[in-house]
Amino acid sequence: MKQWLDEQLSQRRAQHLYRSRRELQSAQAPEVTIDGQNFLAFCSNDYLGLANHPQVVEAFVAAAKHYGVGSGASHLVCGHSREHHALEQELAAFTGRDRTLLFSTGFMANLGVINALVGAGDSIFEDKLNHASLLDGGLSSGAKFQRFLHNDVAQLERKLAAAEAQKKLVVVDGVFSMDGDLAPVHELARICDQHRAWLMVDDAHGFGVLGKNGGGVAEHFNLNQDQLPVLMGTLGKSFGTFGAFIAGSDALIETLIQLARTYIYTTALPPAVAAASRVSLQLLQTEHWRREKLRALIQRFRAGVEQLGLPLMASSTPIQPIMVGDAETALAWSSQLAAQGILVTAIRPPTVAAGSARLRVTLSAAHTEAQVDRLLDALSQLVRKTDCAE
Ligand SMILES: *Cc1c(COP(=O)(O)O)cnc(C)c1O
Repeated sequence: MKQWLDEQLSQRRAQHLYRSRRELQSAQAPEVTIDGQNFLAFCSNDYLGLANHPQVVEAFVAAAKHYGVGSGASHLVCGHSREHHALEQELAAFTGRDRTLLFSTGFMANLGVINALVGAGDSIFEDKLNHASLLDGGLSSGAKFQRFLHNDVAQLERKLAAAEAQKKLVVVDGVFSMDGDLAPVHELARICDQHRAWLMVDDAHGFGVLGKNGGGVAEHFNLNQDQLPVLMGTLGKSFGTFGAFIAGSDALIETLIQLARTYIYTTALPPAVAAASRVSLQLLQTEHWRREKLRALIQRFRAGVEQLGLPLMASSTPIQPIMVGDAETALAWSSQLAAQGILVTAIRPPTVAAGSARLRVTLSAAHTEAQVDRLLDALSQLVRKTDCAE
């Protein structure tokens, strides 16, 4: 075994694909301390700056004092607290769906829903760039698994037309996590309706950011529960907390309570996490300035990067990848930025396709204009260095 493990690891190292962790010693914020060093960070998913918001923290502490830390059991046994229930109701009102169901993580929500809805004899259709949890959910379901080219609605339509299964489930990310672009959810809803397929959208990166009230792609494209029957969101990104939810019809939620194994056979989230998420939800809906500030920072960043002549991807969201190409250069750029005190992650295969390694910049409403300018300055030095080397 040791020989096999060592071989795997050295292979990864040779391919510049080795991953390692750094130790965060501060709260998640634009300025972080990592391994004893201060950095300006552009890599968290805390898009609205709520992860360390005093009111969210206060709600967490107060609920922990009342409920303790652990929920002590699964939802179906005796771990479903009043805080969980209230959060589910508030998320239902927020998403305009009959009901919602909390899951412990987004990964588990996706596995649970897909496996509850389709199995052997059914067909599932997924965008090639879907999140790993959606792909794993589809592959483990036993349904006939088909991928379509990224955002290629025409190709999906041909596949749907050719499919003979009774039950067809189409699954996409609302906002693609490594590219930052949106799925054409309105068109997908239309063809799903035509081909009697069910549509599921994972909107982990859209909630809080897109739509007038932060309602994500469903609000952005104005899609109701009939048009988009399975809507998934996570609490670990814009909400700044932890966990996930599925929003949909009463019958869908009841079905998940009966069938979703990742819901049934796991400990419920700590009630304090639910309490904190309730406050986040309030802030997310009412403090529009966070979305407006984020939009302004995105524009500032894109304009700056375009001036530098670096290849940006077509994204209007806080995920703003700079395409680099090979994994080695992406790593080198990331470490040169780190040497200047700036943290931007290099995203490499297999997370993205070979030859499309990138620097994945993520912006947050907690960033200042001056901080974005600092990043742009550091990038311009990289560009100058690369030009000189060529
Ligand atoms: C982050 C993410 C998930 C997983 O959510 P967790 O709550 O972190 O497990 C699922 N889908 C997408 C698109 C994500 O970005």
